[in-house]
Amino acid sequence: MKDWIVIGAGYAGIAAASVLQKRGFETDLLEAHSLIGGCASYFKRKNFLFDVGATTFSGVLASQPLGRLFLELDIKPQLRKIDPGMIIKISGKQVMRYSKQESWLEEINFHFPGKNMDKFWKKIFRLDKIAWEFIEQNSKIPPRSISDFLSLLKLRNLNKIQMLPELFRSVLRELKSLGLESFEFKNFLDEQLLITTQSRADEAPMLTSALGLAYPAETYYPIGGMYKPAELMLAKFKEEKGDLFLKDRVISIIRKTGFYEVSTTKGNIYTAKGIISSLPIWNMAEITEGEIQKYFISKSKKNISAPGAFTQNFAIESNVDLPSLYYQVHSRNPIPYCEAGAFFVSFSHIEDREKAPEGFRTVTISTHTKTSEWLGLSKEIYQAKKEITAKFILAEFDFAFPELQAANKIYSLSGTPDTFEFYTHRKNGYVGGIPHSIHSNLLFMTPNVTPFKNLFLVGDTVFPGQGIPAVVLGALNVADRISG
Ligand SMILES: Cc1cc2nc3c(=O)[nH]c(=O)nc-3n(C[C@H](O)[C@H](O)[C@H](O)COP(=O)(O)OP(=O)(O)OC[C@H]3O[C@@H](n4cnc5c(N)ncnc54)[C@H](O)[C@@H]3O)c2cc1C
Repeated sequence: MKDWIVIGAGYAGIAAASVLQKRGFETDLLEAHSLIGGCASYFKRKNFLFDVGATTFSGVLASQPLGRLFLELDIKPQLRKIDPGMIIKISGKQVMRYSKQESWLEEINFHFPGKNMDKFWKKIFRLDKIAWEFIEQNSKIPPRSISDFLSLLKLRNLNKIQMLPELFRSVLRELKSLGLESFEFKNFLDEQLLITTQSRADEAPMLTSALGLAYPAETYYPIGGMYKPAELMLAKFKEEKGDLFLKDRVISIIRKTGFYEVSTTKGNIYTAKGIISSLPIWNMAEITEGEIQKYFISKSKKNISAPGAFTQNFAIESNVDLPSLYYQVHSRNPIPYCEAGAFFVSFSHIEDREKAPEGFRTVTISTHTKTSEWLGLSKEIYQAKKEITAKFILAEFDFAFPELQAANKIYSLSGTPDTFEFYTHRKNGYVGGIPHSIHSNLLFMTPNVTPFKNLFLVGDTVFPGQGIPAVVLGALNVADRISG
């Protein structure tokens, strides 16, 4: 019998498994798909490699979750810092998210002049800094016991208590108090916020928004694809004698006396003293029983749905050197069957030969959509909707990047919530975690610790939410609780 079974080899599961194995716990890692990475995985067509969802790396400084993880595992993924970390194309403007704060303040004041613009962004940067310090210094969050609470009562945490009201204060309220609530600026912020908090300014809490709005200052591009750092983590896991089982989907988790039994589609039965699941809470309700199932049903009822994603991948034949690899493009008209007013475009690095041959680049486009738009349709209607959305996005792409209009596009493929459900088994293709709002903020998220001994949760539907740095933080916190 192993010490731990980790379910799911996306970033959350791989982080948890590799750290536990490194710390001396015998661990099995079970993955349904034939490839690792989940929402940060890839697919290949001949000499081209396409990221399927996530494209930007962040949180890699030594004090941040991925930085800490890489140090502990002693790995050095090939990451290129991108500056401007993102360019926003909106109403004919190009807003550059420069890494240096002074340059960013100058840029935003140029495009959206406002008396208190500096004040707003300085608060964003201050909250972002305090939040990262708090996260770095405290792993027993959210507190689940008296000893957890006591561990937070440290002198160094006192000055961070000021952050708490910011979980209940919306970005819009802040904008109104500063006289910055113009339609144009709010619209600009709404689309930035949707990427990370999955909410708009009227609902998004200032604290989580600060982390999301500051993130484009620190974006990194992993050479070879988003899955590459995860592959290095996995190599360490195997080197330390951890076992990975691919194409082995978990279909039931049963609690026995003092251990857990896990059954899979291959008919295998795995046993361990404990389980760490990275599956979405809705999936957990389907593979558990008894009291454990009741727990996940109640969590699913509290969080009835989550967003979905529409993606468009293609390769282009072009040698044009662009000023950034990451763009948010505001569309001129609403995107058919999608919720956002913008889409995110990521290019492969011009020198990245692992993703495209010389003279070509791969492109990943993603935007938010309601999963209900895509599920349960006839094949014909589904196909027709997919084509309409793809055609619209590709035309907007051509309009936004006139320098690439002549470039030949190949392997153009669309992904919908149906695609995500098929490849990642995430119920209804819900991706990107549960939206953060002032009514349902970090404090109300499903915790990593469950009421059941040695059953822990990681992944983007539990604390602290979506994004690779967040799910890795959840995994590190669980590993710290286990290893004491
Ligand atoms: C379009 C899109 C763009 C994004 N962009 C970014 C970005 O640029 N930067 C960023 O940081 N984040 C981004 N995100 C969010 C980020 O990708 C996710 O929050 C994160 O990757 C989730 O990791 P996870 O391990 O929690 O879940 P997943 O990546 O979903 O991994 C779960 C794994 O579990 C496996 N699995 C499912 N069911 C079973 C089962 N029964 N048995 C065994 N295995 C199972 C799945 O196959 C999968 O591999 C994006 C997400 C999307 C969808």
